[in-house]
Amino acid sequence: MKINIQRASEITSFSIDIENATLLEVLTYIKTKIDSSLAFSSGCRSGVCGSCAMRVNGKEVLACAYKVQEDDLIEPLRNAPIVRDLVVDMQKSYAFNKVAKAWQTTLNEEKIQTLHVSPQQAQINELQSDCILCGSCYSACPVYSVNPEFIGPFALTRAWRYVSDARQNDVEKTIGAVQEKGIYDCTLCGECIPVCPQNIAPKQDIVMLKNKSGVLGYMDPNFASSFGGFDLSF
Ligand code: SF4
Ligand code: SF4
Repeated sequence: MKINIQRASEITSFSIDIENATLLEVLTYIKTKIDSSLAFSSGCRSGVCGSCAMRVNGKEVLACAYKVQEDDLIEPLRNAPIVRDLVVDMQKSYAFNKVAKAWQTTLNEEKIQTLHVSPQQAQINELQSDCILCGSCYSACPVYSVNPEFIGPFALTRAWRYVSDARQNDVEKTIGAVQEKGIYDCTLCGECIPVCPQNIAPKQDIVMLKNKSGVLGYMDPNFASSFGGFDLSF
C-alpha cells in the first residue's frame, strides 16, 4: 500500500506492507521502521484526546479513528502554523476561548438555592462539553481561513455551552464578548459540522447564540447598517 504525506512544501510517498490499519498505526509504523524524522502528534490512541487531528484527502479526521486507504494524501490541519510535518500549533485558536469568555462564572447563589436542575436540563450542555479541542472545525472553517481574528467554531460552541447553562451567572458578559468578530461573521455554511468527531454542530450553537443575542437587545451589525446609516445599536 502507498500513502502520501505532505511535509513542508513536498509530498513524500511511503510504501508499507500493513493492511486494515488506522492512520495512526501507519504513521507509527513509518516512524519506527522507515523514517524516524516523521513528526505527528498523538496521545490517547482512542479518539478521546483530539491531538492526532489531520486531513486525509482534504477532509479532517482523527488519525486514530481513520482506516488508511490506498494512495491517501495526508496533510496537516489548515489555518494553524505548521510546526513540522503533520504537527500544527493550536495556541491561537485555543486563545479564542478566552476572547469568548467561554468559561464557568461564579454560580448564581440565589439560583443555587432556588433552582432545581433536572437530569434533562443537565444533559442540555453535555454535547458541547464533549469538545476535545481537536481543531478540525477551525481547519474546515472558510471564514477563519480568511479572517484569522474570527472567534471561530469551538470557542463559540463553548460559549453556548455556558450561556445555555441554567446555573450560570453573568451570561450577558459572554454574549457581549461574542458580538465582535464572532457570531455575525459566521456565514452558517455548516462546514464545521461533518468534521467534528464528537458530533457537535458549532453552526447550530452559533444560531442559538444569535437568538440569545437578539433577546438581549443586540442586532446583527450588517442588518443594522442596511437601515441607511441609522444607529440601531442598543
Ligand atoms: S458554520 Fe460558521 S463556524 Fe462553522 S464553518 Fe461555517 S463559517 Fe465557520
Ligand atoms: S467542536 Fe468538534 S471539531 Fe471542533 S474542536 Fe471540538 S471536537 Fe474538534
